[in-house]
Amino acid sequence: MTLRVGAHTSIAGGVHNAVEEQREYSGNCGQIFSHSPQVWQDPNIDDENATQFREKSTDNGIHPWVIHSSYLVNLCTPKDDLREKSIDSMQTEVDAADLLDIEYVNVHLGAHTGAGVEQGLDNAASALDALDIPDGVTVLVESDAGSGTKLGGDFEHLAAVLDRSEQDLDVCLDTAHAFAAGYDLSTATGVEETITEFDDVVGLEHLACVHLNDSKHECGTNKDEHAHIGEGRIGEAGMRAFVNHEAIRDVPLVLETPTENGKSFAWNIERVAELRA
Ligand SMILES: [Zn+2]
Ligand SMILES: [Zn+2]
Repeated sequence: MTLRVGAHTSIAGGVHNAVEEQREYSGNCGQIFSHSPQVWQDPNIDDENATQFREKSTDNGIHPWVIHSSYLVNLCTPKDDLREKSIDSMQTEVDAADLLDIEYVNVHLGAHTGAGVEQGLDNAASALDALDIPDGVTVLVESDAGSGTKLGGDFEHLAAVLDRSEQDLDVCLDTAHAFAAGYDLSTATGVEETITEFDDVVGLEHLACVHLNDSKHECGTNKDEHAHIGEGRIGEAGMRAFVNHEAIRDVPLVLETPTENGKSFAWNIERVAELRA
């Protein structure tokens, strides 16, 4: 079993640069934004850069890649205009993934903003059903820290959307988000219980990707702030138990760790490799 670990890399100067950056960190899988995630914008990928991205990824054995969709996307929203924009934006992301031979498009469910949990989950499932997802591309619903009316903090929310949607969806488990949402990953026992619960509720066969991040905040605080691997509230023992768990060993690990205190993605990737027995 090869350890699959990589970082969220930048496409500044062209999408192919994300592959070069990944190589600098010694990552062998990874994630990109197809455009600035804070604005409504179509992916800006020219064909030549796309070809380079595909070739460089293949030549260097870097796979899978994930496109993280825009932070403005809200699949749960009860507002028609925001829903339409979200669906349109997601369509451009799955089409970009197709162009780049990228396997996964990752999305947060968003916030129901008063519509209620059940209606929010219905909205998310039907919004995803409106997409024309190309063959070879799978949409991943990401676990959330669960602040405010955001859905996806409880594994039950993820399971409900997978169940209610007609698409073949899978899940991306973000360790910092799950921890903030109340799943204790700081001890070997907590890791075991969380993975067992995920399997019971969602099913491990749907776990396609992990966002491996430590958390600056305590378990159950619903606060989403990522920390360097082993240096947050999940800590070294929890991270070691998690990356060595048999259910996780074959799942690609994508880091969204901060760049601060002189610690880069390269440092975090090396840290994961050390923790992996
Ligand atoms: Zn995310
Ligand atoms: Zn994440």
